Amino acid sequence: MDLQLTDRTVLVTGASSGVGLAVTDMLLQEGARVIAVARDRGRLDDATRALGADPSRLLAAEADVTIRTEVEEAVTAGAAHFGSLDAVVCNAGRSLMAPLSETTDEQVRDELELKVFGAWNVIRAARAHLAASSVGAVVNTNAILAKQPEAKLAITSAARAALLNLSRTLGEELAPEGIRVNSVNLGLIDTGQWRRRYEAYRSEGGAQDYDTWSAEIAADRGISVGRFGRAEEVAFAIVSLLSPRASYITGAHIDVGGGVTRQP
Ligand code: NDP
Repeated sequence: MDLQLTDRTVLVTGASSGVGLAVTDMLLQEGARVIAVARDRGRLDDATRALGADPSRLLAAEADVTIRTEVEEAVTAGAAHFGSLDAVVCNAGRSLMAPLSETTDEQVRDELELKVFGAWNVIRAARAHLAASSVGAVVNTNAILAKQPEAKLAITSAARAALLNLSRTLGEELAPEGIRVNSVNLGLIDTGQWRRRYEAYRSEGGAQDYDTWSAEIAADRGISVGRFGRAEEVAFAIVSLLSPRASYITGAHIDVGGGVTRQP
């Protein structure tokens, strides 16, 4: 099926790794043009170069999504480079795993900045461009934690709930401008985040190999499919929602969690 993304321009944050990189790859394969955003320019260049994409369809932009001016510069430069901006994927992020007693006020602020402003800055900067497109769309990468909070992930869960709420509201507010806003809520996805946690486990003396370690976590969390998800499995949901064929879907969310969802 043609997803009708050929020659559409999409800005993807967190494009140097995991889900963002998989989304970038899938969009390029669909014939879209991508503005790939992350903070570490070297890592971003290495990752996008490895995709083997036509350089004329890919623009790397260094920006921290929590800094409004940097996001505005990336959006303006990207839209000028390709002559349009049709969609954005607000994906940059990480999670904070710590008991409340060990969480500092600064970490709480950082988490809210990243999860809420990380999307808000991008959507605000891109809004006029998306409104000018005939197929304006936003997809926010979120987590099932938004609806199903977990201990030791309290602040991340709260920030995720705020982002889910924001996505729904923006879906309604931006509909008159022709901009659709949806979310994809992740369960446990095998990306840099989990590789870093595995390295920490090993450095603390853990002996299991990655597959055994991750399968045990998947079983412990009640994931029906019995394993972590893959970045490209998330990318499929995100790219589908970006497609103009999803023209009647807005203010909605899709869970990509291998059946982990236990709440509506
Ligand atoms: P990765 O750690 O693999 O990649 C994170 C990406 O975000 C990198 O490109 C990183 O590049 C970028 N990034 C981080 N902070 C910023 C920032 N302030 N400004 C710009 N770019 C930034 O993450 P995943 O692919 O696993 O995660 C993608 C999204 O999904 C994240 O929002 C994550 O929280 C969420 N998620 C992931 C889950 C999982 O199990 N993997 C579960 C639930 C949600 P750089 O550091 O160079 O900026």
